[in-house]
Amino acid sequence: MQTIGLIGGMSWESSAHYYRLINQGVRDRLGDSHSAKSVMVSVDFAEIDRLQHDGDWAALGAAMAEAAQATARAGADFLILCTNTMHKLAPEIEAAVDIPLLHIVDPAAAAIRARGMTRVGLIGTAFTMEQDFYRARIERAGGERAGGERAGVEVIVPEAGDRRVVHDIIYRELVRGIIDDASRTAYRDVIARLIARGAEGIVLGCTEIMLLIGQGDSAVPLFDTTTLHASAAVDRALGGVAS
Ligand code: GLU
Repeated sequence: MQTIGLIGGMSWESSAHYYRLINQGVRDRLGDSHSAKSVMVSVDFAEIDRLQHDGDWAALGAAMAEAAQATARAGADFLILCTNTMHKLAPEIEAAVDIPLLHIVDPAAAAIRARGMTRVGLIGTAFTMEQDFYRARIERAGGERAGGERAGVEVIVPEAGDRRVVHDIIYRELVRGIIDDASRTAYRDVIARLIARGAEGIVLGCTEIMLLIGQGDSAVPLFDTTTLHASAAVDRALGGVAS
C-alpha cells in the first residue's frame, strides 16, 4: 500500500472527512483492521483565506509548495490537496516535489464522462467558479454521447448574485463548521436554476459543500469532489492490492 499525503486544513472541516473517507475506503477494500497509510500537513485556514481575498497568489503558491515538500519529506508517495480552490496552484505544487499530485478535477471529470453528460453546473468558491483553471480542466476531459461519439463537456456556473451567495456561505459558514437550513435552501435554489439552464449534473466544486447538501437536494446527479477525490486516492494507494 502506498502512503497518501494530504495537504489539509482548507478547511479542516472537510479534511476530517477526507481522513474518514480514505480510511473507510481502505477498510472496505481490505477488511479486518486495515486502514490507510497517510500523512497530513494541515495549515491555518485564516491565513489562507486572507491571502486569497487579498489576491496574493504568489504567497499562497509558496505556502503550498512548502506544505507539499513537508508532506513528501514525511513519507508520502503521492499528494492530494484537500481543496478545489487551491488547485489554482497545482503547477506550483507539482514543481516543488518529485511525487505526483492526484488532481481533484480528474476523478470528477472521469465520473462526468462515465455518465455521458455534456453540460454540468459548477458550484464552489468565486475563485473556482470564475477563473479558468478548474472549468477548463473539466471541459478538456470531454464527454461521450450515447452511441460512443465524443463530445465536449460544457461547464456552466450560477449567475453573479447566486455566485456571491454560494461563495459567502462557504467562507462565513461551512469552513467554520456552521450548517444552516436557510443556506441549504439557498443552495437548492441555485442548483434548481442551473438545472433550468440545462445542467445534467452538478459538480460540488468545494470540499465543504457535501457537509450542507446531499443528493436529495438536487433533481440531477451530484458530483461530490470530496468523496470522488478520496476514493481515487484509495484506488491509487492500493494499486494492485487485491481486496
Ligand atoms: N475547501 C474549499 C474548496 O474546495 C474552499 C476553501 C479554500 O479556499 O481552500 O475550494
